[in-house]
Amino acid sequence: MNIKQLMVSILCLSIIFSFSGCGSEKKKESKLETDYQTSYTSNTTSWRNVQTDENGQYVNFSGFLYCYNEKNNTFAPVCEKVNCLHDKDPDKLKQIECNANIGHHTIVGDDNQSVWNDCGMIQYYEGYIYYVQGNRVYRLKKDGSKTDCVLKLKESISISFFLIHRGYLYYEMETNYTRGQEVYGNIQIYKLEIADHMNEKDAECLLDLKDTNQDFLGFGGFNASGDYVTYEYQVRDKTEKMEEDDWWKTKSYDPTILYNIKTGKKEEITFPKKDQTPGVGIQTVLFLDKYYLVKLYDNTKDVDEKMPTYLVDYKTGKWHLWKDTLPQGTVLLTYKDYIIENNVDRAYHKKKKYADYTIYSLEGKKVANYKCPIKGEADHEGFGPDGIQILQEHKGHKYNVYEVKFQDVLKLHGEKITPKRIGTMGDNTEMYDVMLPDEYWNK
Ligand SMILES: [Zn+2]
Repeated sequence: MNIKQLMVSILCLSIIFSFSGCGSEKKKESKLETDYQTSYTSNTTSWRNVQTDENGQYVNFSGFLYCYNEKNNTFAPVCEKVNCLHDKDPDKLKQIECNANIGHHTIVGDDNQSVWNDCGMIQYYEGYIYYVQGNRVYRLKKDGSKTDCVLKLKESISISFFLIHRGYLYYEMETNYTRGQEVYGNIQIYKLEIADHMNEKDAECLLDLKDTNQDFLGFGGFNASGDYVTYEYQVRDKTEKMEEDDWWKTKSYDPTILYNIKTGKKEEITFPKKDQTPGVGIQTVLFLDKYYLVKLYDNTKDVDEKMPTYLVDYKTGKWHLWKDTLPQGTVLLTYKDYIIENNVDRAYHKKKKYADYTIYSLEGKKVANYKCPIKGEADHEGFGPDGIQILQEHKGHKYNVYEVKFQDVLKLHGEKITPKRIGTMGDNTEMYDVMLPDEYWNK
């Protein structure tokens, strides 16, 4: 976990991203091949390490990409290399050559640095799984046959977050710069048309805080659906003094930008005046069909504090209160026009075995509820566009992987569920300790 991610975590900025289309006149269907899969959401980070094509789930938990095919009942590394033992190879250097190894060392720039794919995120887009290592964007053909580097930045700056939606790659980078005695953080967000070979010279800059009055503190993540992309980041005013320990609770500020990909208009989402008190900001933006959902969070209050969640009409921009009775520590997910509340984070910290899930309609009515066992690190992904949720359980040197189907839980009224186990992934964290020979770097 890098500093930014830690920051994101500490500040409860975990961004939940979900989506199912918006804005256009026609009834919108999410296009699986080209749309960001917005209903997948991780409750503790904004990483997304599960994606789907129509046929299966691509899962990245330990730096190896696996595919689960429900029809064939297979769960296997995404690698077509002949004689490859993938993450089962006792020779760790051979594991690096495996196509399914998307997490580990590669070469960045010309200075032979090794990197860990610490953003851990993957995205399915038109037959490929995209991922980032350092300053490069790679894609692996979904059958595991071939890996290409599609973008290499000139500078050795890591891409921290990325998203692909309807023909464009959005990527975020975080750097520092000095002015006089002071060191400030900067964030840059770029938009670049997807191609087999992309060049950063063609990228459009959407955000750059250098030479502004804002000092960058953390990035909350991207989300996208239909005509919109959102991004959320945390800043402080450069003139603000950081004297007290808890200065960030009231002196930091989290702009969330709604970017219209059709018109190019960028606007900051502003919540109702009555909620605008020091410490209150937007925690989550989720996409539904006609509305986007905005969940507020008060940094000065604890997780049990009740905070409002609003629905905002895309067309009119009108805000409606959806609920003001949910503790701010609950996590919201969406699937189609359902809103799913869970308390995984809070239950995990209280060492409970089960988390409570409640499914609501758009009107706020309870539709179903159930108890789901907390596996491993309480990192519950949302339901994918195909209605499947993948859960991980970290056990010793392995990850057990489970599925939960939305159609099954929609019928429940308080029951405990037993997620179906679909496979096991080897844990290869020992890779951290491997010293790579020069020949590897000089290739
Ligand atoms: Zn392999």
